[in-house]
Amino acid sequence: MELYPVARLAAVAEATARNGLDALLLTPGPDLRYVTGYDATQLERLTCLVVPAEGDPFLVVPRLELPAAEQSPASRLGIEFVAWDETDDPYALVAARLGDVERVGLADRMWAMQALRLRDAMPRARQELAGTVLRELRMRKSPAEVAALREAGAAIDAVHALVPDFLKPGRTEREVARDIAAAIVEAGHVAAEFVIVGSGPNGASPHHEVSDRVIQPGEPVVVDIGGPMPSGYCSDSTRTYVVGDPPEDFVAYYKVLQAAQEAACDAVRPGVPCEEIDAVARRVIEEAGYGEYFIHRTGHGIGLEVHEEPYIVAGNTEPLAPGMAFSVEPGIYLPGRHGARIEDIVVCTETGGERVNNRPRDLIVV
Ligand code: ZN
Ligand code: ZN
Ligand code: ZN
Repeated sequence: MELYPVARLAAVAEATARNGLDALLLTPGPDLRYVTGYDATQLERLTCLVVPAEGDPFLVVPRLELPAAEQSPASRLGIEFVAWDETDDPYALVAARLGDVERVGLADRMWAMQALRLRDAMPRARQELAGTVLRELRMRKSPAEVAALREAGAAIDAVHALVPDFLKPGRTEREVARDIAAAIVEAGHVAAEFVIVGSGPNGASPHHEVSDRVIQPGEPVVVDIGGPMPSGYCSDSTRTYVVGDPPEDFVAYYKVLQAAQEAACDAVRPGVPCEEIDAVARRVIEEAGYGEYFIHRTGHGIGLEVHEEPYIVAGNTEPLAPGMAFSVEPGIYLPGRHGARIEDIVVCTETGGERVNNRPRDLIVV
């Protein structure tokens, strides 16, 4: 059960051919890591894995990065590492080795400076997104990837278990967030990629991060946290806390939110379109009269990126399939007052949904 199996490279070349592309050009980022396990740093100097639909893949790498590449999991793949020196033109190198091609797929997160230089070096090649090839592979997680997501889920659950110790009236969001960030790393993450602590009215802004606002007694606080694990796979979980006695209107809609999140998680099974999971959550919230306060999609895929396909949103008819992993995170936000969100990562299995986050979802009064 390998997280980055050697056989994946051949599967990617096969998918490249099947999609009618001549090659994928993968610079450092989640696409390169998915294919090789190599967690290379994004730099202005070109590192690029070239995966031709037919023929041998090779890794173009700056000479000073060669030792790092050789120590990375990419060295297990048995591919040629083509080192270039400071005065070489690595773009011309890629073009010359690849030969005459018509369609290339660029890593979705490639920098524009590299995409444009590749275009200049291969003016006849139509540039597309590597994601059109990789999405079908990356969306459906292998058992090893699911295990990595479970590990990330357990780590962020351990942090949520500590949040009640950090949340005190009189502390600022930033002070609480600092403690949470340290706990995220302590729990095994590589970094605290995001820490949202939205108290009172700030909780009504879904992507509010932190501020110097002082948390008041009786206020709901939305805490949405996560980051990458050493495996590369990410955590992401939200719980909403109340510091002291909650406001009555808040208690009323929190129950609705909890029912909506539960219903959406229960609806997960193979064959159900992504948009249906969104609709299930939305219906519960609309029927209770809070529809206008649920202002974002229900969820996003997760893996090597915190936000990736499949998106749980109206209009996405992609049917769920075993191995797909995504958030179910409905929210209700009353502008100027407060808000609430409950978020778990759910993996679609043969028989239903498996949540990798398991902290209590009842209103948490601290
Ligand atoms: Zn978000
Ligand atoms: Zn989140
Ligand atoms: Zn999320």
